[in-house]
Amino acid sequence: MGYQYDTLIYNVRIASMQNNGLPYGELPSHAIALKDGKIAALIPCDNSLSEVLKQAKNVLDATTLISQDEDEGEDEGANAKHPWLLPGFIDCHTHLVYGGNRAEEFEMRLQGASYVDIAQRGGGIKGTVEKTRCADERTLRNTAIKRAKRLCEEGVTTIEVKSGYGLDLDTEARMLRVAKSLEQHLPVSIQTTYLGAHALPNEFTEDPDGYIDFICNQALPYIASQNLADAVDVFCETIGFSTSQTERVFSSAQKHGLPIKAHVEQLSDSKGAVLAAKYGALSVDHIEYLADSDIPLLAQSGTVAVLLPGAFYYLSEVQKPPVNALRAHNVPMAIATDFNPGSSPLASILTAMNMSCVLFQLTPEEALRGATVHAASALGLQDRGIIDVGRLADFTLWDVETPAELAYCINGHRPIAVYKEGKHV
Ligand SMILES: [Zn+2]
Repeated sequence: MGYQYDTLIYNVRIASMQNNGLPYGELPSHAIALKDGKIAALIPCDNSLSEVLKQAKNVLDATTLISQDEDEGEDEGANAKHPWLLPGFIDCHTHLVYGGNRAEEFEMRLQGASYVDIAQRGGGIKGTVEKTRCADERTLRNTAIKRAKRLCEEGVTTIEVKSGYGLDLDTEARMLRVAKSLEQHLPVSIQTTYLGAHALPNEFTEDPDGYIDFICNQALPYIASQNLADAVDVFCETIGFSTSQTERVFSSAQKHGLPIKAHVEQLSDSKGAVLAAKYGALSVDHIEYLADSDIPLLAQSGTVAVLLPGAFYYLSEVQKPPVNALRAHNVPMAIATDFNPGSSPLASILTAMNMSCVLFQLTPEEALRGATVHAASALGLQDRGIIDVGRLADFTLWDVETPAELAYCINGHRPIAVYKEGKHV
């Protein structure tokens, strides 16, 4: 007779991220049962456990993963030495496929060079576009694997990756293929986003609307027909694309059945968030300059606010996103690294969580929900981000006393185990 469960892990405290009235959606002293890559059952560790253990092919007592201190124990209660189990982290906003890097530029800037000097020497986003266009698929893949690996080491099991450093169709398609191929090399799911409207390529310097025509009439139809992207994104900003240009891309994305996301209100209140809400965007990202009065529209459209403290830090920004007003209107807040070569070379979701607490005054619980359940919503994924029956068995185990430690420390923790779709990786 077959087993009811493939794997059963017991003696864990689960930070389920469900809304069960307890901090972190805690399920104290539980067992988690896995079947076919999904969570099949969540069972309290009580007297009935011994019967349940017989129904699983593989059984793991999670307390054996951490070194037990002999002096303490009994009187600390049943939970004292149980590892915490959390949903796998979801980094819902990255640009981690690109050619070259900007370390030299960083050096130049700190030696006093101006942005104009750097641009004249081929730096900035145009430099990254140049290097990405020149990079073949293999080179792009190898560097992207290294970057994504850093995230995976911290328990990230889903990563969103945007294009946007090719701008021409060939390179954009190559970036999206490379991004998706990371799934073959690392235990991670990849969600791809077409961000053609990231910057204006040199070929269109005199004709920004012509570039939008190219995106809507050529690039987007091709990308949609080849299933290269799960969503479409636009950099709506004074130094990016106007709201009317942004709207054309949104409307084209909608026509091709692709959900939208948007970089908005990072440097100015351009009303990109209002437009994104009108199109039912999955998320609005950055939003430092978002007006409080526009927040009810996000609440109505079910749009997630994605906070990117890495870029805020790296650009020495001082305008903070309107966290209190977002909270007051129950707009879900997600946290992501925005991993990119220019404004956020941040290969750490845990550091992004810490920064969201220190710089934006999120609570550790908000930060953890931001990198799990709300990050899943920012990608339109209903099958992950919380620990519940029927969801993907993507989760991590941690040797900590409380989940708050993960947001409190900088580079203090790594998971003691990571499971991706039911498999220990
Ligand atoms: Zn970004």
